[in-house]
Amino acid sequence: MSSTPDEGGEPVGDVGAERILTTRLDAIADLVRRYGVNWCRKYSLWPLPFGTACCAIEYMAALSSIFDIARFGAELVRFSPRQSDLMIVAGTINYKLGPCLKRIYDQMCEPKYVISMGACACSGGFYDNYATIQGIDHIIPVDVFIPGCPPRPDAMLNAVVKLQEMIDTEPQRKPRQPERERERTR
Ligand code: SF4
Repeated sequence: MSSTPDEGGEPVGDVGAERILTTRLDAIADLVRRYGVNWCRKYSLWPLPFGTACCAIEYMAALSSIFDIARFGAELVRFSPRQSDLMIVAGTINYKLGPCLKRIYDQMCEPKYVISMGACACSGGFYDNYATIQGIDHIIPVDVFIPGCPPRPDAMLNAVVKLQEMIDTEPQRKPRQPERERERTR
């Protein structure tokens, strides 16, 4: 039998013919979270496109075989909020449409993410008027903003990669919606 002191959760040696590994429970939980749950989440994003204007056409191009967003595991578009975890807002959102956007977002299951695509969704764009919401982050939390008018499909792919990097490092239980809204309005 040989053994070494248990230092910082490293392997301590073997007993007889059987090797024994010791580690900390939180280290295992961290591995499962990082390489299990988060890995699955980031490569199986199901988008719900909320397309209202020209940016939605660019999003369609990102889905096409030329840009092939399927390479990133985010091609399974669903138009039901209950089957989606990634809302893509592509286009102008006015005050009349705002409550619909908020309601659909609220109906999506946690954990859920939002990409704001294009100048109009991010900041109202050149529609600086009384009818247009000057950025959808006034009503829902946004994870990734894509600038441009319109942004190219490549920018959409880049946003998905950025989102995947965020998902990779997030805690297994993402703060729920009310907590995120408190952070947003702080
Ligand atoms: S950002 Fe430009 S391309 Fe996109 S919806 Fe607005 S006007 Fe259209």
